[in-house]
Amino acid sequence: MSFLLIPYKGGQAIHTFPRPILVISKCMGIEHCRYDGQMVPYDIAKDLQPFIEFITVCPECDIGLGVPRDPIRLINGEKLRLVQPATGEDITEKMQVFVNSFLNNLLAVDGFILKSKSPSCGFGTTKVFESADAKEPLHRHSTGLFAKGILDRLGHIPYIDETSLMDPYKRDHFFTRIFMHADLRLHTSSIQELIDFQTRNKLLLMAYKQRKQKILGRILANYKSQHFPEIFTAYSKTLHEMTSIAPSIGNIINAFMHAFGYFSHCLESEKKQYLLNCMEEYRKGRLSLQELRRVFISCIFKFNVDYLADQTLFYPYPEKLNDPNLI
Ligand code: SF4
Repeated sequence: MSFLLIPYKGGQAIHTFPRPILVISKCMGIEHCRYDGQMVPYDIAKDLQPFIEFITVCPECDIGLGVPRDPIRLINGEKLRLVQPATGEDITEKMQVFVNSFLNNLLAVDGFILKSKSPSCGFGTTKVFESADAKEPLHRHSTGLFAKGILDRLGHIPYIDETSLMDPYKRDHFFTRIFMHADLRLHTSSIQELIDFQTRNKLLLMAYKQRKQKILGRILANYKSQHFPEIFTAYSKTLHEMTSIAPSIGNIINAFMHAFGYFSHCLESEKKQYLLNCMEEYRKGRLSLQELRRVFISCIFKFNVDYLADQTLFYPYPEKLNDPNLI
């Protein structure tokens, strides 16, 4: 299902966004399924629901641990083990069976939002202990077994936890990727659609990695000598690799400078300088990326630069997701 978003041109909304499908930890504002019968007091799922479709999961409940339950923890060893110190039960195998079955049955998704620090769901934030009765953790940078299963099998799909989602820089990167992922998944069933995808993402991909962007161009150029499924696989693999790390501020500015070239000749020198100053303010961290996008969007509409109006660099995801009160 898609929905429309401003801006409007001649009374018509010009931008549509797909609705990405994400897997989310059920304890994040959806169900009281934590070990102590609580849930995390975040409205993430409710706030994002208009824009994103969720598949909810609580791996610990799904392997039958119940609510409330005795806490479980990760134990270090040759292999990480998941144990419940109060009962002495080792639930590693049970969890692995669940992870395999969950991922085998999972249809296409565009990302994961999981609870940090959990021995099941945490991504690199979970405590690991030397033994079931150790008082202090060895460290706090491990990955829960459910999250590890995701990384092992679907590590190319965007993922984040609720703590990183509060960071505007990481959130922008995550939202950009999941909407791009959904767009690629839903709107590229032919070579022409894939070429259109590449065209509307051109400046955004330039901000990620210009060198890899050329590789994408070469993959598409092979369309006469290769079958579409092979082209799509090579294209999506390269795309996921090049977008896995957030673009640098310098690269983002380069992409904006490129866009600037499309209408700078229409600007009086004062206004030209104003835009250059805006880019400099963004470089110095005094203007947000969203504010810079808005400055450019106003020029794009003022000067009717249709090519730029379609570029995802300016509309990577619905503007409302930037509302500071949303999350
Ligand atoms: S962190 Fe994961 S396993 Fe723990 S309660 Fe939340 S959803 Fe369930």
